Amino acid sequence: MLSTPLQFLKGVGPRKAADLKRAGLITVEDLLYRLPFRYEDRSRMQPIASLRPGQRAAVLGEIKSTNVATTRRRGFRIFHAVIADRGGAIRCSWMNQAFLADVLRPHLQVVVFGDVKLDSSGLHFLNPEYELIGDELATVHTGRIVPFYEKTGTVTPNMQRRLVRSALDALPGELAEPLPADVRERLHLMARRTAVEEAHFPSTEESVDVLNAFRSPAQRRLIFEEFFLFQIGHAWRRRATGDELKPFVPIVDDRIRASAAKVLPFKLTPGQREAVKEIVDDMRQSRPMHRLLQGDVGAGKTIVALLAAIVAMENGLQAAFMAPTEILAAQHYGNIARLLASSRFRVDLLTGSTPGLHKHTLLAHIERGTTNLVVGTHALVQEKIKFHKLGLVVIDEQHRFGVAQRAALRAKGLRPDVLLMTATPIPRTLALTDYSELDVSKIGDLPPGRKPVKTWVKPESRRDEIYQFMREQLESGRQAYVIYPLVEESEKIDLKSATEMADHLQAEVFPAYRVALLHGRMKQDVKDRVMHAFVTGQVHVLVSTTVVEVGVDVPNASVIVVEHAERFGLSQLHQLRGRIGRGQWESHCILLYQAPWTDEARERLKVMAETRDGFVIAEKDLELRGPGDFFGTRQSGLPKLRTGDLVRDRDLMEQAHREARRLVDEGGLTPELMEFVQARWQEQFGLIEVG
Ligand code: ADP
Ligand code: MG
Repeated sequence: MLSTPLQFLKGVGPRKAADLKRAGLITVEDLLYRLPFRYEDRSRMQPIASLRPGQRAAVLGEIKSTNVATTRRRGFRIFHAVIADRGGAIRCSWMNQAFLADVLRPHLQVVVFGDVKLDSSGLHFLNPEYELIGDELATVHTGRIVPFYEKTGTVTPNMQRRLVRSALDALPGELAEPLPADVRERLHLMARRTAVEEAHFPSTEESVDVLNAFRSPAQRRLIFEEFFLFQIGHAWRRRATGDELKPFVPIVDDRIRASAAKVLPFKLTPGQREAVKEIVDDMRQSRPMHRLLQGDVGAGKTIVALLAAIVAMENGLQAAFMAPTEILAAQHYGNIARLLASSRFRVDLLTGSTPGLHKHTLLAHIERGTTNLVVGTHALVQEKIKFHKLGLVVIDEQHRFGVAQRAALRAKGLRPDVLLMTATPIPRTLALTDYSELDVSKIGDLPPGRKPVKTWVKPESRRDEIYQFMREQLESGRQAYVIYPLVEESEKIDLKSATEMADHLQAEVFPAYRVALLHGRMKQDVKDRVMHAFVTGQVHVLVSTTVVEVGVDVPNASVIVVEHAERFGLSQLHQLRGRIGRGQWESHCILLYQAPWTDEARERLKVMAETRDGFVIAEKDLELRGPGDFFGTRQSGLPKLRTGDLVRDRDLMEQAHREARRLVDEGGLTPELMEFVQARWQEQFGLIEVG
């Protein structure tokens, strides 16, 4: 049984069981779903006479003689055995394993596997792996394709191999099957029992290269199973929430189209038009929209969201527009209020720093419905705000957000349309995990007339040149950012160096201009003041330790200098570069690195210099850093996978996503399958319960 605790397995005592448990292996299933990370072909026996020094080889022979030699080191003994086949003989030596004299006795048949060495007395195997023929567990470690496992506590690879073998031997001939028959048939997936066997102890026909690339049918079947159960959970949740009906369903007619057109200050790009269409189509459905709008920095997501808000408002519904910071909320509010100035809609800004009395009035307006659109921070949905008729919630610049916020809305009995927006392009494979429940729209183009940002990668020894260049830019009226990394371990040092740098830049480098410092440890109102001074042009150079607030729009800034660029991730650099190139001027992103840098850092900065496509950058970032780091530690809520790898097996995740959605949409969820899904979601993925 898969659910049998490992301690009931032959050869597992309480101590070993405890050891395995510490490594997360409690049941037979845990053990069998931890696949080998590597395989080695030990199936072909080589004639001893043909062995060459430096080879890794397996030989089969008879033990001719053995002896235990003592050495000059006290208590250190070497066990020697001579093994012969028909054409030759070879010596094998095991350091400090004198007990082998009782195991490897003369006349026994043995397979040894290891590296062939040459010394003054000829060829020999040093500490090879061995297996007696006729042993009840024969051909576990040699004479076949042999699996290697990640080290588990004090359990040695050999022990684990043996454990897996005896677990497999104790399994029934068939295992309960989580994959529906038609899915298995369509995708040609082997039965679960066979897959488990073959993934650990592949038949000799399998290629070791294919196995090591994790592309054998057995491995792929198990990985698909994992992905599929994960995706079913998402598809089910999407379906369950999608089944709720909206209290108000907007309509769209010519009057509303005209009203939206009146607000538009420019022509939409094709990408924006397509996104608006998808969003408005969703809004006209009876089920709440749950859509993610992806678009690179500067792609123009705000206007798309505003058009959606106009549709809602024209239908007598309220819209809420949420930004991650007060600065951004204020900026959105300013823009939106300007665009809606000639309309009949009332727009309000509500943030944590709204004064109490004013807030009181605002809340009343929102409750009565005289406020049509409220802009604020994310607290907007959590606070005790009562809406009159909330129809649309727009959430700007935040990943990994939707689920919790939507739950908060639903807890308040609200089921508005929800539109999430992000400028951090999310690689497809991650989109399939975090955002599996969402529909996704993508703005792939940029508004016309943008001057592309030029990117330079320079050693920091060229600093003086850079300063000279910045001075020229400042002289012609532009502004500049200087960014410092903030690495958590050395936060204090970095803060100090950033502060000193700001002072230095002010006093010695740019005395004729105003330099200001912005960092995460400042109080919110101080931050706001500094940011405001930069936005309004009173500050010319902004030195910032934290990432300059995502989405901040200062079109007059034409230079960004990133210090220690080698420490930043690709997506972060891309975000930073997106701070400039927002006006009509040519802009420059200067990435300063400090030697020595790693190959990976070099590769990263090269990618930055070569491409501006956020989606390409995101894929590359994922490849270089792996999925765990992609979102940064704070945000890593990725599923804990046992067999699959989000990057390596992305094609399987796509397939699992498709199959799961199809099955759930067709109503094919059986109680048996749901049981599998629930068990996995709780035990493995650690996600909010399904069902
Ligand atoms: P983001 O997608 O990064 O949120 P914004 O919505 O802030 O981008 O838009 C960036 C800038 O581009 C804004 O100043 C906006 O007015 C402008 N913009 C957006 N769409 C267009 C367009 N179709 N034509 C011209 N300018 C546009
Ligand atoms: Mg934006």
